[in-house]
Amino acid sequence: MKIPLRNEAGEIDSYIGLSTDITEQKRLEHQVRSYNDALQTKIKEVTDLKDTLEYQATHDVLTGLFNRRMLETLSEKIFVPDNPQLVGMLMLDLDHFKRVNDEFGHKTGDDVICLLAQLMSDECRSSDVICRYGGEEFVLLMPGTQAGKARAKAEWLRKRYCEVAGQIFPDMGTLTLSVGFAEAPANNVSFEQLYLVVDKALYQAKENGRNRCEEGQLQSLTETVAEQS
Ligand code: GH3
Ligand code: MG
Ligand code: MG
Repeated sequence: MKIPLRNEAGEIDSYIGLSTDITEQKRLEHQVRSYNDALQTKIKEVTDLKDTLEYQATHDVLTGLFNRRMLETLSEKIFVPDNPQLVGMLMLDLDHFKRVNDEFGHKTGDDVICLLAQLMSDECRSSDVICRYGGEEFVLLMPGTQAGKARAKAEWLRKRYCEVAGQIFPDMGTLTLSVGFAEAPANNVSFEQLYLVVDKALYQAKENGRNRCEEGQLQSLTETVAEQS
C-alpha cells in the first residue's frame, strides 16, 4: 500500500510504502490443512477398523456366512409375539465328513464346506438367515415362509449338494448331507424350541441312514424339553 506525502505547495513529492509479511500466516494455514488431512485419514482408519471388527464378530471366517452369535441376534427380531408368520428352520450336517478330511486333507475339506455355503447363498432369499453354526453344520432360518417350503428347500439343497459336489470333487465318491427341518408360527415358538426340534430331526436323519431330510415334530416339543432337563 502506498500513501502519498505532499509538500507545502500541496504537491505530491514522495510516498510512504507499507507492506505486510504474510509468510507466517501462510505457514499456519498450511499446517492447519495438513492437520485436517491427517485427522480425516485417522477417522477413515477408525471407521474401517470398526466395520472390520463388526464383520468379524458376526460372520464366519471360512465361508463368510453369519456366525452362530449373529443367528441368535437376528432370531430375536423374528421370534416375537406380534409375528404370526411361519418361520422355517433347517439344520444341515455333512455326512461322514471326517472321511473327507482324513482322505483328502483339511484344506480340501474346507473347500467342500465352502461349496455348500455357496449353494445355500445362491439359493436363499435375502430375508433368509444363513449361518455356519459350527464345523460342518449349518442352520437356515426362513422367516415369512409358506407351508411346505422348508421341506422343499431341504430336499433341494440335499440333492443339489450331492450333484454339484460329485461334479467338482469326482474323486471323493458320493458326498451327501442330512437335514432336520421344521416350520412354526414365529409367535408360537421360541428360537431355542425350534432349534431343539430340528436338532432332533437331524439326529433322526442320521439314524435313518443319512442323505435324507427329516421333519421335526413340534408336538414332540414337550417331550424334547423334558429330555433336555
Ligand atoms: P456324521 O455323518 O455323523 O455327521 O459324521 P461326520 O464325520 O460328518 O461327523 P463328525 O462329527 O464325526 O466329524 C465332523 C468333522 O468335521 C470332524 C472335524 O474335523 C471336521 N471339521 C469341523 N470343522 C471343520 C473345518 O472348518 N474344516 C474342515 N476341513 N473340517 C472341519
Ligand atoms: Mg457330519
Ligand atoms: Mg456335525
